[in-house]
Amino acid sequence: MDARALLSFIDASPSPFHACATVAARLEAEGYREVSDHSAFPTDPGRYVLRRGGSLVAWAVAPQHQAADGFRIIGAHTDSPNLRLRPHPDTGGYGYRQLAVEVYGGALLNSWLDRDLGLSGRIVVRGPHGPVTQLILIDRPIARVPQLAIHLDREVSTTGLLLNPQEHLRPIWGLGDHHQGEVADVVAAEAGLSVDSILGMDLMLHDLTPSTFIGEHQDLISAPRLDNLCSSWAGMEALVAATDPAAPTTAQIPILALFDHEEVGSSSDRGAASPLLEAVTERIGLALGGGRDEHRRALAASWCCSADMAHATHPNYPERHEPGHIIDLDGGPVLKINSNQRYATDALSGAVFVVACEQANVPLQRYAHRGDLPCGSTIGPITATRMGIATFDVGAPQLAMHSARELCAADEPIRYARAMTAFLAPA
Ligand code: ZN
Repeated sequence: MDARALLSFIDASPSPFHACATVAARLEAEGYREVSDHSAFPTDPGRYVLRRGGSLVAWAVAPQHQAADGFRIIGAHTDSPNLRLRPHPDTGGYGYRQLAVEVYGGALLNSWLDRDLGLSGRIVVRGPHGPVTQLILIDRPIARVPQLAIHLDREVSTTGLLLNPQEHLRPIWGLGDHHQGEVADVVAAEAGLSVDSILGMDLMLHDLTPSTFIGEHQDLISAPRLDNLCSSWAGMEALVAATDPAAPTTAQIPILALFDHEEVGSSSDRGAASPLLEAVTERIGLALGGGRDEHRRALAASWCCSADMAHATHPNYPERHEPGHIIDLDGGPVLKINSNQRYATDALSGAVFVVACEQANVPLQRYAHRGDLPCGSTIGPITATRMGIATFDVGAPQLAMHSARELCAADEPIRYARAMTAFLAPA
């Protein structure tokens, strides 16, 4: 494993759809075979990957695996807060052509100002047997949201920057008068299609600055979407390592589940609150010849590692952190605990990760949120509630979560992936 691969992974994955395509390509290169959720599941042992929009589930069944053995699941999410194009994206005024956007998730809006932005996502086009999806990636600077000059916003230095998501975030993408349909024209030309073949568009903006190592000793990673492509990448690497044909067979069936829509609550046909993972686990058991009882026994025997990034203690704002739970940016993976179940970890499920970190020989940190600040949540409690699987929440430490540009330590992604590998393949 090499952290440089994480940087390429992030840069190749500006949208959840691209993240799934990048993971699927990596897994297929390792011998995984793509299956469709509307076809019968293969009954042969093997390594499989299934995609549904911006979500993906991959698993590996060995000849020894039985339907009631249970699963070791790594869950993460593919989406990140950003700016997304509205259904009628063409707008403008005062001599500018602009894009109508909607804020997706809890973005730090200031971080989207004064950046050169590209466009990505998917379109749906007419196919011979009905609508088909096609990925779109415009990786050149086509848009920018300019900040208001300080001379016109004197309060910015005293009361702070206030951005109205409706008024202040419309990117400029050219000069002149805007025309209805011009975004679709550009996308159609990019895709090599006629504009009337496009039936729908799910498009979003991304920062074009390449991910990079920074710091005098290059011991930091500056990148967009570390939350949560760092966890998605680490989970993918762990699955590849644990299911290498040369590695011993895992006692339980390893699964990687990457979900879209975590940043907006996980409720969709493919989010963590959807039936996607439960359906896949049940169908894996059915394909192995098991029935309803074996499925329930398998879930009762399973463990889920819900992997989402963690807050390192910010050196400029130490008072925002729980003083007894300081998190070092370079101190190892983080087990997240919240007695109000914002995180799913308890002493028993957490112990599985303690043992995995011991086996991987990586240090472990424990995160707890301040009592006077509302605590965020993630897919762990949702998956646990939906499936009744014993779950723990973990993360790699980072700063600037939900900024268009985030920061982590250069050594952490590898430690994180090694701990997850040990979880999937306990000694
Ligand atoms: Zn996250």
